[in-house]
Amino acid sequence: MEKITFISTANPYKQVGLSEAVLSGLAGEKGLFMPRYIPALPASFFRQLGDLPLTEIAFEVSRSLLHDYIPDDDLMEIIRSSLTYDIPLKQLDEDLYVLELFHGPTLAFKDTGARFMAALFNYLLRDMGGRITILVATSGDTGSAVANAFSGYKGIKVVVLYPAGRVSEIQEKMLNNGGPNVTAVEIDGDFDDCQRLVRECFSDLSLSSEMNLTSANSINFARLFPQTFYYFHAMSQLGKPAKPVAISIPSGNFGNLTAGVMASAMGLGISHFIASCNSNHPVVDYLRSGIYKPAPSIHTITNAMDVGNPNNFPRLLHLFGKRHEEITRKLSGYWFDDNQTRTAMREIHIKYGYTADPHGAVGFAGLSEFMKTKKVCGIFLETAHPVKFSSSVEDATGIRVEVPESLRKMLLNTGKPVRSGNKLVEFRKVLQNIAY
Ligand SMILES: *Cc1c(COP(=O)(O)O)cnc(C)c1O
Repeated sequence: MEKITFISTANPYKQVGLSEAVLSGLAGEKGLFMPRYIPALPASFFRQLGDLPLTEIAFEVSRSLLHDYIPDDDLMEIIRSSLTYDIPLKQLDEDLYVLELFHGPTLAFKDTGARFMAALFNYLLRDMGGRITILVATSGDTGSAVANAFSGYKGIKVVVLYPAGRVSEIQEKMLNNGGPNVTAVEIDGDFDDCQRLVRECFSDLSLSSEMNLTSANSINFARLFPQTFYYFHAMSQLGKPAKPVAISIPSGNFGNLTAGVMASAMGLGISHFIASCNSNHPVVDYLRSGIYKPAPSIHTITNAMDVGNPNNFPRLLHLFGKRHEEITRKLSGYWFDDNQTRTAMREIHIKYGYTADPHGAVGFAGLSEFMKTKKVCGIFLETAHPVKFSSSVEDATGIRVEVPESLRKMLLNTGKPVRSGNKLVEFRKVLQNIAY
């Protein structure tokens, strides 16, 4: 089989190997790395899928893409050390399921990507003996997951940027709870300012090489790719449904949805995807009109989805050969404002006795819209534990969410963030004081 190299979405002639694609993070010229081609998994794999545990599934899926780069034993070790929790599919009604992605250490789906990425970086850097600094912009959950996943890894510094006053209390504590190799920086600005600062740091070539900067946002392929695993795992748990399967994904930067489309390109039988968004909805508009117009982000109760210009949109276009009619055949989009999100939380609670966090509720709302006209077996992704957004959940449903024991312990000792303005010159100074 031909070796799978990585190309840039901005320039298919730029080809690199795994280490360069993931350790450098960005492909330059605003491009993002993608595998040059996406391997289909063999029919024998799909025949066995229903009997395979998550780690075996993850191993087969990742081996199909990474076998040129990582020996089987090492790959299995990366998977075993990162996928240490359940990702259960729960049935709420005859054709309605929820995939719970929040059973990792920081109670959000981003643990899966961040932990695989940390283990992979550790493996790749082991032989190189190098030191790197990871810059990550977060609206809350990414930074918590990355801070936790990389905590304690030698030779890897992590700097997390988050918008001051715009993350929940639990998120803020988690962000400031990484090991000594993790620093949280509060930025005077919004999430888009944080993302812009990260981009500007990378574009500043002297800064970027002086500090060996890399990214841990879902622009990094190492975080995106492991998110394909749980789509396979969901279908494995579902068995053989009589109806076509549609999956609704509460989306912000569209990493999770892009991973689902990749899983489908690898041969997984998902017939339709639903992009469920909040009041930040340039992609939903694009699906309807064919015109993509990024906008400044709007603050909502689903803050992990407050993204006005989703990072992974170029990857999504790339996967569909940039053809609008191809995309809309496989993907529908809906958006909901905060009031509709609260209504959805109430509806799930009343109809199914299920407590969803506001992000999951947006996923449910999108799926419900779609299922009004299409006969499908529907799955929505629950991307965070409701306790992470307990005040919105309590507001909408009157339910008090219990704080899980693991979280209580984790939040006992937290540090203080460093503060920075949102101009590159300001952040640069802060960064130079922290990094190696
Ligand atoms: C990050 C996040 C999302 C959005 O995921 P994307 O991959 O950025 O689209 C949704 N819900 C929660 C809870 C998140 O943390």
